[in-house]
Amino acid sequence: MLQKIALFVSYSVFIVVPEIHLTPPDRSANIAKLFCSRIWFRLLHYETVVTKVSLRNYRNGKYTLIFRYLRAMKLKFIFPLLLAVAACAPKSGLADLSKEEKALINESDSLMHVFTVTDSSEPAVLRAQSKDLTAKDLKSPEFQALVAKMKYTVQDPSQNGVGIAAPQVGLNRRLIIVCRLDKPGEPFEAYANPVLDSLWGETIIGREGCLSIPGLRGNVPRSEFAIVRHTNPETLETERDTVSAYVARIFQHEIDHLNGILYTDRTEDLWSEEE
Ligand SMILES: [Zn+2]
Repeated sequence: MLQKIALFVSYSVFIVVPEIHLTPPDRSANIAKLFCSRIWFRLLHYETVVTKVSLRNYRNGKYTLIFRYLRAMKLKFIFPLLLAVAACAPKSGLADLSKEEKALINESDSLMHVFTVTDSSEPAVLRAQSKDLTAKDLKSPEFQALVAKMKYTVQDPSQNGVGIAAPQVGLNRRLIIVCRLDKPGEPFEAYANPVLDSLWGETIIGREGCLSIPGLRGNVPRSEFAIVRHTNPETLETERDTVSAYVARIFQHEIDHLNGILYTDRTEDLWSEEE
């Protein structure tokens, strides 16, 4: 009986291993998990194979079909193969919010600290590629808190912005807040995992500033129209919004932030605010 339980558990681990490598926080953690799983499996394997009972059963040919199947699969080759698959698997970007990210959200005031390029320690977060929020993240209280705090921050008189992206408050996650100047009441709306599906129309030169680049303004070329694909955090469905003119400009500016791009990368026509 014990042997059967051990076999069942070890077989379960074996089945779970590929799942583990599909949603890793990162590749190295994934490989570490794979090694742990491998060691665990080996221990169970010895439990079932090397103990006297198992050996007797083995000699008597009483081992189960599953065990015979597992042995036939030549485990020594399966694990390196899984490891190779894990190493080659593209980064899914689907890791849930980490403890550090949750702490940053929970411990922040409603008025969040806005990271700027003027602080030598802060540009890294503004220049990194942001990852998607997972379905679990979108349903979490931290997501609700982050949206509320980012909305509060962008509308605060000290900032007075029309948009903000998560990297600007220290999180490399795909979340932006945009002032929908094209809607009644000009609400600030949150967009999770936004991507620009397409850009078209005239290229319009328009004035931009950025909460992360204080004291500077610039004339930036942007497309007149954009289709923004994003995830509805309630239904988890993919939705698309077609936007134009200045709102399309805000979306392009904020989604640039998620890809580590600042508006100053797109223009040389810059001037300080006092001028
Ligand atoms: Zn900006």
